[in-house]
Amino acid sequence: MGNTSMATHHLMNTYNRQPVTFVRGEGAFLWDTEGKRYLDAIMGVAVCGLGHAQPDIAEAICEQARTLIHTSNIYGIAWQEALADRLSAISGMDKVFFCNSGAEANEAAIKLARLHGHRKGLSDPHIVVMESSFHGRTMATLSATGNRKVQAGFEPLVSGFVRVPHGDVDTLRQVAATDRNIVAILVEPIQGEGGIRLPKMGYLEDVRKICDENGWLMMVDEVQTGIGRTGKWFGFQHCDVLPDVMSLAKGLGNGVPIGACLAAGAASELLGPGNHGSTFGGNPLMCRVAHTVLEVIERDGLLARADELGQRIQNGLRSRLHDVSGVIEVRGRGLMIGVQLDRACGALVGQALQKGLLINVTADSVIRLLPALVMSDEQTDMLIATLAELITAFLADGGHV
Ligand SMILES: *Cc1c(COP(=O)(O)O)cnc(C)c1O
Repeated sequence: MGNTSMATHHLMNTYNRQPVTFVRGEGAFLWDTEGKRYLDAIMGVAVCGLGHAQPDIAEAICEQARTLIHTSNIYGIAWQEALADRLSAISGMDKVFFCNSGAEANEAAIKLARLHGHRKGLSDPHIVVMESSFHGRTMATLSATGNRKVQAGFEPLVSGFVRVPHGDVDTLRQVAATDRNIVAILVEPIQGEGGIRLPKMGYLEDVRKICDENGWLMMVDEVQTGIGRTGKWFGFQHCDVLPDVMSLAKGLGNGVPIGACLAAGAASELLGPGNHGSTFGGNPLMCRVAHTVLEVIERDGLLARADELGQRIQNGLRSRLHDVSGVIEVRGRGLMIGVQLDRACGALVGQALQKGLLINVTADSVIRLLPALVMSDEQTDMLIATLAELITAFLADGGHV
């Protein structure tokens, strides 16, 4: 198996893959089949926040695999209970439902919102969702997603979603006044796939207020922003709010698939036996690993480190790119960073790959960085220098795609 192993015709064509196959990782580095080293600034798309082949995680997987991988949710699961306690302590939420992915966590949130509506006697409950949002690829979550490319060809969509511009409080107040069927709002604290879009200060506080005034559930999709990515455990913790519902996945398992839907107060009492479930959800292996992820973040002070590294990257990129025409903005929070260009820049992904750097481009013209929380200062400076050079050359060259 070399870098040509992708020649098989037996995989459904769901991804435009880069022409590289990785065989090994360590921290922020990956190595391909030819032994070439890459600095990973994507980390499996915000998944491996603690780095590749992290020793504590490897140890937790091995020990638990030798002890017990899976039973069933029809029995007690000690690691699931321990993880729920830990998640509740760091989030302020009351209860947790475990599943296997971000889309599934959002499905659970959507089901909670509908139950909440039916309890209020509404047979056609609506959920407010945002333009340019991303919530997953299942039928309900792609219907909630604010991107036609994700939906096209899969109609009829799941009904009951009302779309408003992200960060726009006035429009939100208008729909609140006109649509009496709304029961909840689903929002990303920072839009990830949508292009690292931060709403203006005070937005989530306003959302909380509108939810309280109207009896809506405030539901935050923290699948990408959660688990330390933004320099706090959760993105909403940069604001003075507590949501009713929160979805998690990506960084929670450092690569072991796990999702979670958390709820507070009355929203945490909506589900009963037989309402919802998952065969794999919350099994001993995934829960022990996620528990270890939270322990390592705390032990190694990685929330503060994510904040520090994020500032170093943003400042470094700004100082190198401030007079480069075509660069509109460097923005983000913690280790969720976007560089907005004035043109499509998908070609940069391949150019970076050749230079041994893994980046991502989203929303056509935004370079997205989701680096590891464990990067050294030297690795961080390597990332800044390599990326700034690439962007400068790309724009000087006319930005050919
Ligand atoms: C990645 C992502 C999802 C979907 O997660 P999957 O695990 O791929 O189902 C949902 N919401 C947000 C904000 C995401 O970034």
